[in-house]
Amino acid sequence: MTQTKIKGEEKLLKLTMDEADIYRAAVNLWGQRAQLDMVIEECSELIKAICKYRRYIRDPSWKDIVLEAIDVEIMVQQIKHVFHVDQEMWDHLKDVKLAELQAHIESSKKEKGGGENHLQNNNEA
Ligand SMILES: [Mg+2]
Repeated sequence: MTQTKIKGEEKLLKLTMDEADIYRAAVNLWGQRAQLDMVIEECSELIKAICKYRRYIRDPSWKDIVLEAIDVEIMVQQIKHVFHVDQEMWDHLKDVKLAELQAHIESSKKEKGGGENHLQNNNEA
């Protein structure tokens, strides 16, 4: 995929902290309650971007969805620091969830009998 410019990107600051340190610092600075509120706020912005994208049939651009998804990712990563979940535990729980998703995909394929084609047909936004 080609590089996509985003609004304000030209003013991008150089990162001087590790990603995990940024998340930890945000939670330490603004507090657990505020950061959990921000998780909710960013999720709602992503929901809104998806609704607008679907309602306007691809206008506004998919970039709005991607940018809001990144905001959500940044806030979701802070949940680890709010609840003191270390990376090993996070990765383990994520593997469990991915295995559940994999099993769900496999059972859906068998149920529908259509294999990949059925899943692809449902991917249209
Ligand atoms: Mg946002």
